[in-house]
Amino acid sequence: MKTFVRCGQLFTGQDDETIKNAALVYDADGRLTYAGPEKGAPKRRDHDRLIDHSRHFVMPGLIDVHTHLAYGNAKTEEDIDLYSPLEFRALRGMFFAQKCVAAGYTALCSPGDAGQISLSIRNAINAGLFDGPRVMAAGPYLTTHQGLTDWYPTWIGAPETSIGKLVHSIDEAIQEIRKQVKNGVDCIKIAMDGIQRRPDGELIAAFTQEETDAMVRETHRQGKKAVAHAVGREATLYSARAGMDLIFHGFFSDDECIAAMKKSGSMLCPTLTQPKNVIEFTQPFEPAGQKGRIEATVARYKTGCANLKKAKKAGIPFLTGTDTGFAVTPYGEWHARELELFVDDLGFSKAAALRAATQTNARFMTQGEAIGVLEEGRFADFVAWDGSPLADLGILLDKSRLRGVYIAGREIVIADRPYDPRKVTDFSLSNWTDLYTQARVAELRGQRRRLEAAE
Ligand SMILES: [Zn+2]
Repeated sequence: MKTFVRCGQLFTGQDDETIKNAALVYDADGRLTYAGPEKGAPKRRDHDRLIDHSRHFVMPGLIDVHTHLAYGNAKTEEDIDLYSPLEFRALRGMFFAQKCVAAGYTALCSPGDAGQISLSIRNAINAGLFDGPRVMAAGPYLTTHQGLTDWYPTWIGAPETSIGKLVHSIDEAIQEIRKQVKNGVDCIKIAMDGIQRRPDGELIAAFTQEETDAMVRETHRQGKKAVAHAVGREATLYSARAGMDLIFHGFFSDDECIAAMKKSGSMLCPTLTQPKNVIEFTQPFEPAGQKGRIEATVARYKTGCANLKKAKKAGIPFLTGTDTGFAVTPYGEWHARELELFVDDLGFSKAAALRAATQTNARFMTQGEAIGVLEEGRFADFVAWDGSPLADLGILLDKSRLRGVYIAGREIVIADRPYDPRKVTDFSLSNWTDLYTQARVAELRGQRRRLEAAE
């Protein structure tokens, strides 16, 4: 039995243009045998199945290469690392993976999570235990005492439940890579940004060039992909020179970084949604909204976009990802905002943004040659929208416009189940955000009505 899908408009992911009155045809194994004008499609037989999207815009399933399945919509780093057991995080991560697929995202990369959470979610979906997106999984970030994700004081260290795995030497890093590969990760995440700055303000990379080279070499030797968190120039440069497959952020890329990326073939996922949401959503009373922090994020965002435009001009492949998993980037909510920001802030056309989120993203993903484009031989991973994202990308953020999500030809239907966010994350023990000295209390007296109202 074959399945025929009538498509009002078909965006294959290969070209900027759509095909009007098109058809997809696929076999029982979910592989496409035809994608093109309905006129040219093979003849449909009586027992073949017909799916009617003749009034819809059909396109490849969207891909987000930067969604942390285990973060749980976290408000604090401690919440990501400490307050819930890995087992609960895995269950929660599965629930949230389903929120993503319900938003039209048929594949995700989860680049850096504690334990073996993302790969367990991937395996459970692949085994058919749950419906969910295709997942490309990493383990904990490799980090140093000078790196991102080694948040806690040295006398605490990096607990086993953290997203960071502290390594003290090249040897330890190599052993950790081999261990993660044995456990079944698809990619190795390296925390390349450091925490110290040079007098001129430049961020110092967490690893040296030599260490970076050794880690990427071993990752590739094991047949896996290497990905890096690198906002700073030095972290980006070392990553690019080492041949890191994917660099997240790259906001301070200069000409040298861009030349190194060109040479080694590194791709970039700027992840604009996370800082943009921080800037626009954070309230003044929140820690992230304290004086200077938003201004710094705005400045970094502006510089980042200017530098990223140069990288785009140089022909570096741009991938879409959002850093979903924080309180400002909840699962299934803002993934497609990245496409709008590609258009507004990086100068992509709408069609180019759509291709970035499908065809280009697939180039990085495991089994990428079989997804991301609707053409003969690839999987029938597709979504149908009531309206054209090429007219308005905002449609992709509106789940009420989504008319179907299919993975390998099978429709995925996820019930929109409400949940109690306070029982899912936000277990941090923080009690106050102010300091109640006599002077502060006197200052606040005029505002005490808030308390009285509560009585
Ligand atoms: Zn991230």
